[in-house]
Parts: sequence; structure tokens; C-alpha cells
Amino acid sequence: MPLASPFKGKTALVTGSTSGIGLAIARALAAQGADIVINGFGDAAAIEKERGSLESEFGVRAIYSGADMSKGDQTEAMVTEAIAALGSVDILVNNAGIQFVSPVEEFPPEKWDQIVAINLSSAFHTTRAALPGMKARKWGRIINTASAHALIASPFKSAYVAAKHGIAGFTKTVALETATFGITANAICPGYVWTPLVEKQIPDTMAARGLTREQVINDVLLHAQPTKQFVTVEEVAALAVYLAGDMARSITGSIISIDGGWTAA
Ligand code: NAD
Repeated sequence: MPLASPFKGKTALVTGSTSGIGLAIARALAAQGADIVINGFGDAAAIEKERGSLESEFGVRAIYSGADMSKGDQTEAMVTEAIAALGSVDILVNNAGIQFVSPVEEFPPEKWDQIVAINLSSAFHTTRAALPGMKARKWGRIINTASAHALIASPFKSAYVAAKHGIAGFTKTVALETATFGITANAICPGYVWTPLVEKQIPDTMAARGLTREQVINDVLLHAQPTKQFVTVEEVAALAVYLAGDMARSITGSIISIDGGWTAA
């Protein structure tokens, strides 16, 4: 059992939490006593190991949903099943996301649709399913993992930038609609965080810009961040935990940067 359990009795559902930022957020919320729904793709044995260690390390209940966030019906069903299994969804973290790097005129339309579905529309489907319970209990936290690309653009990332700007607008709208219900909705905007999502885009960026791997890391990725350092998943998770807490009750509709100064430039 965690020493301090501010979220004991609450359930957190984190989409895209079998890896990277989502996994760190799930673990950080479990460390504060929340029951957890993890979601995402990956090796079944590795996911079961992670689910089991959330329970054994933090003394919480943890379940796994393999729902595909590109499919609205599966996404909505995941929330319904989570409520049936754990009693409620109090903290909703819309984090699942993918990236694809290509000039706009060569951008495969099916990749565009997939990115908009996973990075933007899935948050609509989860939010509409979770809100009635949050409103009834007069408490809820919706935390959307957006990106520095919710605020500024980079070339060759048209679908991602469009979806992330979209999630910022969706976050603000939900915040306004829920402001008198004890519910907050905020977007976290990380700069570059070293996760599989960033690692996987390096070869395509090398091809799109004609650069070496080292040039992509130093001249494209870290070039954007005045700190010249990657943001860590633990730093993003700590911000999510703060936003989920009662001391953050007045923070709503905010688009919060955690990007080493990138968007200040
Ligand atoms: P990641 O690749 O490590 O994790 C992505 C997660 O989403 C995985 O659990 C994966 O299984 C899951 N996922 C992918 N497609 C899915 C689908 N169709 N259905 C369900 N789950 C799916 O990536 P990450 O870097 O941890 O990214 C997490 C979020 O953070 C994304 O929304 C991403 O856009 C955002 N983000 C990342 C960075 C960065 O630099 N890494 C920066 C800003 C924002």
C-alpha cells in the first residue's frame, strides 16, 4: 500500500499505457493509490507482467483493455467495461498516440485517418462515455496528452500537428462544459520525450530531410529545445499526478507546456 494514497477509491484509465509516457502516468497514479486501467498494444506476456506489478507494487487493482483507439465502438466499450469492473472512471488520461512523418502531398490518406482517429477522436469517445459518471459524482479529471505540436507546427507532420491542435480545442471546450461539476480538463504539451514514438520517427526524418541519425537527434529534435535535453516520462507523469489532485481544482481548460522552453522561442 502506498504511504500517501490521495487517489484511493478512485479509478484512472490511461489510454496508450503499455509504453512510454502513458505507462509512466499509469504507474505514477497507481503509486498514489488509484486503481488503474491500462490500454495499448504490445507483447501479451509483457503487458500482463506490467499489470501484475501495478497491483503488487502499489496495492491497487489493475485491469488491461486491448481496445483499439482507432475504433470508436471499442473505445467507448472500454470505458463501459472499466466502470463495470472497477466501479467508476474518475481520472481519464487520453494519451494514446502515433506519429507519421511525410511531406503532405505524399502523406498516405489512411495514415491521416488513423492519426486523427487515435490522437484526437479517441479522446472524444472516452470523454463522452466517462462524463456522465463524473458529473453524477461531481468529481473528475480529464488529462489529455497533447504535444508542443498542439501549439506550433513542424514540417512533415501534418496529421499529427492537426490532431494535436484539435485536442487542445477539444480540451478547452470540455473544460467550459464541465466547469461547475468539479471536473477539470487540461492538456499536457510535452516537447521531445525519449520514447519508442520518438525513436521510430528517426529513420523517416532521416529520409525526409536527408540527415544522419545523429543529425536528426541533435539538429532536429534537441535543436528545438533550449535545454538541449529530452523531457523524461517521469516529469510528464508528475505533472499528470498534480493535475489529478485536489490542489489543481482551479486549473481547467489549460494547455500546459513541458517542453524545455521549445515553445517560448
Ligand atoms: P509510445 O509509442 O511509447 O506509446 C504509445 C502508446 O499508445 C503505446 O502504449 C501504444 O501501444 C499505444 N497505442 C498506439 N496505437 C494505439 C491504438 N490504436 N489503440 C490503443 N493504443 C494504441 O509513445 P509516447 O511517446 O509515450 O506517446 C504517448 C503520447 O505522448 C502520444 O499521444 C504522443 O503523441 C504524445 N507525445 C509524445 C512526445 C514524445 O516526444 N515522445 C512528445 C509530445 C507528445
